[in-house]
Amino acid sequence: MSNDGTKAAARRGAWRKIHSTCECGVEVYGNGKNHFRSCSAHLESAGWPMDSAMRDALRHEGHMSADIVRIERALGQIYLDRRAHGDKSEMPWSEYRDTVWQLADA
Ligand SMILES: [Zn+2]
Repeated sequence: MSNDGTKAAARRGAWRKIHSTCECGVEVYGNGKNHFRSCSAHLESAGWPMDSAMRDALRHEGHMSADIVRIERALGQIYLDRRAHGDKSEMPWSEYRDTVWQLADA
């Protein structure tokens, strides 16, 4: 095997190690946001994972990890309600942003 091939295989291996098992039993690799954001079991247990830019913005405004967890749980509940009404789409960015700040100030 060429040196490049070994490196690529090592990277694939490292990436595959970054995984967790979701509440629903699915093995999730990498940050798993695509799965976690659409999985009812995860939305119920841990909420809807925010993107890192939004988390950084919240931290910048002085919100601690506990707040971020609380906001993600609340977002999870909002998404479960939307799904219960047959809406599986993501909120438009502006609505998402406004909702996060409302939850942050609550
Ligand atoms: Zn799942």
